[in-house]
Amino acid sequence: MPPFFRHPASLEHDTGHGHPERAERIRAVEAELERRDWVGWTPVEAPPATEEQLLRIHPREYVEQVRTFSERGAAFDMDTPTSPGSYEAALRGAGGACALVEALLSGGERTGFSCLRPPGHHAETARAMGFCLFASAAIAARHALDSLGAERVLIVDWDVHHGNGTNALFHDSREVLFVSIHQYPFWPGTGALSDVGEGEGEGYSVNLPVPAGTGEPAFLSLLEHVVAPAARQYRPDLILISAGYDAHRDDPLASLVLETSSYGVMSSLMRALGEELGAPVGALLEGGYDLRALAESVPETMAALAGDGGGSPEVSRHALADQAAEVHGRYWQF
Ligand SMILES: [Zn+2]
Repeated sequence: MPPFFRHPASLEHDTGHGHPERAERIRAVEAELERRDWVGWTPVEAPPATEEQLLRIHPREYVEQVRTFSERGAAFDMDTPTSPGSYEAALRGAGGACALVEALLSGGERTGFSCLRPPGHHAETARAMGFCLFASAAIAARHALDSLGAERVLIVDWDVHHGNGTNALFHDSREVLFVSIHQYPFWPGTGALSDVGEGEGEGYSVNLPVPAGTGEPAFLSLLEHVVAPAARQYRPDLILISAGYDAHRDDPLASLVLETSSYGVMSSLMRALGEELGAPVGALLEGGYDLRALAESVPETMAALAGDGGGSPEVSRHALADQAAEVHGRYWQF
């Protein structure tokens, strides 16, 4: 039974009236999962991140700033307010992500999901932004590398927004192969195709921008024809999905057109890749702001990640994959 990390603290991060990143997101997902008997998964309470886990990514002063802003209910910017429950929620968000990689690398699980809020992929080392406080995916990857014996981690970020925080945190590193498929041009403005990382990490940032209106055929082709071959050459010990659901056609914040079922197909491709490479595959919740689309797409992801075998679909080649291969082909063979 794969673990599904959750915690009631996720409901206590109050972003105020009308904010799209709200507690109802978690309530909607969990209500749907209750109806589906948790698709056979095991709900597990997420622990808080330890100081050691947080300080590998964030300076102590910043962690302290998140705590004191939260106490006062101060906002980092217009997108990123806090409330007295925010610090604990963010601690559990990062802690759930770390517990997820422990379950995968030490606990023998082949898959798992950390479904907490606030999200994390926009948070930089000392900067909250874009609804994000702590960089949970990056913290989890660092935990895998520093404490759990992993040497290489693949992060696939399919949130509709570029995962600027995660990307920046590993921009000059080969320890993480960071892949992001995102609407572009779009907020936060980063993630151009030409951004391939720097220094030691040149080639290890695979940014895959897609225009408004892009849907499942392009996503599948990018995963099958760009991400999978790069991953085979990289040989990760762990695959993490920064699983945002705001590329769904019903999402109010963005303009891509994935279907609920697309998340199942994409997750099947990731599961097949993980099986082929002997790497467990864990997913962390990022964005996704249409409650129904989110609530139905998360179980779709979970069922596909836990599915056994079953052939992957035949994926036809998309022009966006050819464009990406031209740039990233300097570093990887496609
Ligand atoms: Zn997003």
